[in-house]
Amino acid sequence: MTSIDPYAAFREELRQFAAEQCPEDLKRFVRSNRKITRNEYRIWQEKLFARGWAAPNWPVAHGGTGWDLQQRYLFEEITAQADCPPQYHHGLGHIGPVILHFGTEAQKERFLPRILDGSEWWCQGYSEPGAGSDLASLKTSARRDGDHYVLNGQKIWTSHAQEADMMYTLVRTSSEGRKQAGISLLLVPMNTPGIEVRPIPTIDHWHHVNEVFLNDVRVPCENLVGAEGEGWKCAKFLLDRERLSPATVPRLARLAEQVEELLMARRGADPAASPSFHVLLERLYLAQAGVKGAREMLLSAIQEEMQGTLAASKSSALKLFCSELSQQIIGIALDIAGPAHAARLVASTGVDAEQDVDLERELVHTYLFYRSRTIAGGTSEVQKNVIARDLFGA
Ligand SMILES: Cc1cc2nc3c(=O)[nH]c(=O)nc-3n(C[C@H](O)[C@H](O)[C@H](O)COP(=O)(O)OP(=O)(O)OC[C@H]3O[C@@H](n4cnc5c(N)ncnc54)[C@H](O)[C@@H]3O)c2cc1C
Repeated sequence: MTSIDPYAAFREELRQFAAEQCPEDLKRFVRSNRKITRNEYRIWQEKLFARGWAAPNWPVAHGGTGWDLQQRYLFEEITAQADCPPQYHHGLGHIGPVILHFGTEAQKERFLPRILDGSEWWCQGYSEPGAGSDLASLKTSARRDGDHYVLNGQKIWTSHAQEADMMYTLVRTSSEGRKQAGISLLLVPMNTPGIEVRPIPTIDHWHHVNEVFLNDVRVPCENLVGAEGEGWKCAKFLLDRERLSPATVPRLARLAEQVEELLMARRGADPAASPSFHVLLERLYLAQAGVKGAREMLLSAIQEEMQGTLAASKSSALKLFCSELSQQIIGIALDIAGPAHAARLVASTGVDAEQDVDLERELVHTYLFYRSRTIAGGTSEVQKNVIARDLFGA
């Protein structure tokens, strides 16, 4: 007897939507592995918003789809397979759910609709020089002055700050007691006087990270999320959800397919003419087996999360495994492209957006960008600590 797939109609609806609604030039852009900017994210978000699918992870009452985690996974898998862009995560995945859980009614009304329609863009101001893995050591101060907080300090590695309208940021409102206790979460308009954003040049030549300097920045007290001193609770709530992202594995699977296409295109008519072909193919197949394993691990994590039994170690293990796997896959692409090509790229000054799509070149940019995968969102060593604590109580 064949079992009935309860999601069959849903899958079909997703496939049709991705095929018909995502513009071809946007799909080409995604396929080329260029860095997706606010413009590409916005075009796709507007399409999803019009369809009522703007927020797969939000409740229906606030404009979300109310999908379960299995549906959210299918959405990610089918849209990745069709080369639709991912959704921009800082608003939808990070601060949106925090506002939904801890925010005031006024904050929900003010901020959530603009995250949904993609008209307001957020960045995350957590890390500081000296406070990355050890985030609770952060020093940026927020002093109360009437109905405002006055912020002074510096944030670092702030992705997308250069194009953000708003920043959610952790600040120190007290130096008393445990260091976690004096931290608060504030929502800061990026056009407030006293904010200076400076780009951090990176090896991939893509502008994504910045330093953000805060000098006497006045933020209304109504932009405090939760009670004063409860920022750590909000941050933990966010980080717990950040680790289990249904989007990562489908994007990795698509990348592995692209690398396979690249390898096959390089094979030429005579396989014997490319002696490294079989070595590369073997590495690729091993990586693809890794993607399949990651998919199984993610699906079982999704089941456990839906039953409320997911252990922190499993989502940390997924984050650790997927970030290292992404580096392996893109490493194969670099080896296909060859050292001369890579050297030319490293010597170049940037990507010319007007130039024709060059899949190889963009994959090499991606290789350089992916070096950060084992750092951003919590380093691999920190994930290993979480796993060890969870499994062995270390
Ligand atoms: C591309 C990119 C984008 C980012 N985007 C953002 C963003 O938008 N917003 C934001 O707030 N931050 C962002 N970050 C910052 C990121 O969260 C931090 O870089 C990360 O948490 C590590 O902190 P750190 O750089 O201070 O390194 P450190 O914490 O100083 O770590 C240095 C080294 O020591 C190791 N280490 C540290 N503590 C331990 C420990 N307890 N046990 C074992 N080893 C340890 C680390 O694993 C690492 O190898 C981004 C970073 C990158 C690279």
